[in-house]
This record gives sequence, C-alpha cells and structure tokens, in this order.
Amino acid sequence: MRKYVIMGIQGSGKGTQAKLLCEVYDLVHLSVGDIFRWNVQYHTKVGAQVRRTMAAGELVDDGLVERLVQERLAMHDWNYGFIVDGFPRNARQAEFFLESYDIDAVIQLDMPDEEVMRRVMARRLCSGCGLDYNLIAHRPKLDDTCDVCGARLVSREDDNPEALAARLRDYHDKTRPILELFEQKEFVISADATQSVEAVHADLRAELDLTTAPQPNSESPQTPSLSVVRDTDRGPEL
Ligand code: AMP
Repeated sequence: MRKYVIMGIQGSGKGTQAKLLCEVYDLVHLSVGDIFRWNVQYHTKVGAQVRRTMAAGELVDDGLVERLVQERLAMHDWNYGFIVDGFPRNARQAEFFLESYDIDAVIQLDMPDEEVMRRVMARRLCSGCGLDYNLIAHRPKLDDTCDVCGARLVSREDDNPEALAARLRDYHDKTRPILELFEQKEFVISADATQSVEAVHADLRAELDLTTAPQPNSESPQTPSLSVVRDTDRGPEL
C-alpha cells in the first residue's frame, strides 16, 4: 500500500507526475482541483459554490474540501494506494489530514516563481475532451484546435495574471509552511521540477525507492508509457 501527497507550486507538473506514478503503480489519483473543475463543468451544486472562488485563484472553504477528500477516500477503491494532489494546502487541512490518514511520503516539486508564470500562461485545455496542451512544449497541430477531437482550446478560467498572483501568494503564505509540518512527521522527498517530465519521474521513483518495488500485476517494474498519460510528452503540467 502506498499513500502519497504531492505538493508543488502551480505549473510544477503535480498532475502529470501524479498520473505517471498512478499508472505505473496502480494508485488512485485524487486531484481536488480536477474534482472541482468537473463540478463546475457539469453545473453541480458544489460547482456553483466554488466557481467564483476558483476563478479568482482563491482557496475554497476548508470544510468543503475536507468533506470532498474524506468522501473520495471513503470509497476505498484504492487497493494499492493513492496520491492526493492539491491537498492539503494550509495548516488546518494538513492537521485534518494527518489526524485522519497515515501517509508514506510527501512528494515536493520545486520550481521558481519566474518559471511558473511562463508555464501557466501557456497552458491550454480542450473544451471538448479535456486534453491538456501548452504552447511552449506541446503545441496543437492547428492553432487553438484539439488534435484529437477538433474542439477549441481554451485557457483555464483561473490561468490569468491576477488569479495566478493570488495562487502564488497562497502557496507561499499557506502551503509552503505546512511542508515543515510534514517534515517533522512524514517523509518528504523533493525533485527539481524544471527538468523534463521523464527526468522528474525518474528522480521521484529513485527517491521513493519505487524502481525496485513489486508491481501489482507483474514481476518487474514497468516503464511508464508516457503516451498513455494525456499530458506527459510536453514538459511539466502546464
Ligand atoms: P489546482 O488544480 O490544484 O490548481 O486547484 C484549482 C483550484 O481549486 C484552486 O485554485 C482552489 O480554488 C481550488 N482548490 C484545489 N485544492 C484546494 C484545497 N486543498 N483547498 C482549497 N481550495 C482548493
């Protein structure tokens, strides 16, 4: 059983690296941001509650986030473990999490703020199938058009300079300090997220000692099939 938290500033590739590790080790990927975006897209009650907060780049109410994480993990469909992505983000959420779950490692992706702005502003999302693109490392063949389904590419509503500034501020003021809390109680490993997707993934596996870990369905560790993961061949998640 592997239970991990992945932390890193916006655009550091948390989602990409989490998906790769989940693919290789058959873990469940719990992305709080993805769950909220799904709710916004399908106009659910939760979506209505969080939409404006998300668009402004602010943090959603702790109680709502905690309930959502608790409900998702209570499904117990994570036979081999899980990676929580985007949670916890402040001291209260960290305390709640540490009281409720045992974590094997906290994965921290390091990236300077200057690089964040460049990457996040280049991020695009297909409005049809949801595939991720970026205009630096993975451009669509036709401008603003999804290679797979032909739908229009759009920016995430919170990928604008004002919302990004708010998210960066929250990250430094609220999220970074909880790494210290994790360092006291948990096993924190770090990787340089300015590297290629493959290099970051290799570093994480080496640090987590995952490269020698037994696989759920095979004797030897498999190399991740980067093409299977939607947004992996174009640099860290943008
Ligand atoms: P992300 O995809 O992780 O960048 O999350 C997108 C947005 O969802 C954030 O800017 C917040 O508005 C909201 N969100 C995601 N995770 C949390 C969390 N742990 N606590 C509060 N808000 C969150």
